[in-house]
Amino acid sequence: MVEEAGPGSHLTAAQIWERARSLQPRIGFATVHRSLIRLHELGGVLKIDVPGEASAIYEPAAGPHAHFRCTRCGAIRDLDFALPPATLQRLSAEHGVTIDREIVTFSGTCAACR
Ligand SMILES: [Zn+2]
Ligand SMILES: [Zn+2]
Repeated sequence: MVEEAGPGSHLTAAQIWERARSLQPRIGFATVHRSLIRLHELGGVLKIDVPGEASAIYEPAAGPHAHFRCTRCGAIRDLDFALPPATLQRLSAEHGVTIDREIVTFSGTCAACR
């Protein structure tokens, strides 16, 4: 369901459930939520917590990118941004931590709202 939505789509579990119901009207939210968790564990789907967004957002697994959230309309889009590996290595070494994941979210005003 998330894969069908295509790259660049960012949907909450509730929005994915809505779509699933249009294909399978009797499908329950718990079923959809369970399969999302399963897909997430298998690596097919990324789960992102966007600041300012009440629910986690799911998207098809893609290359490293950052997110932009419009504070006016709430639109979320992908930004082609990732920290250089050397910066991550330096941060790990300086702070004695292991960085597994980088989650970067920018906020501001989108082109449509500006
Ligand atoms: Zn906007
Ligand atoms: Zn994304």
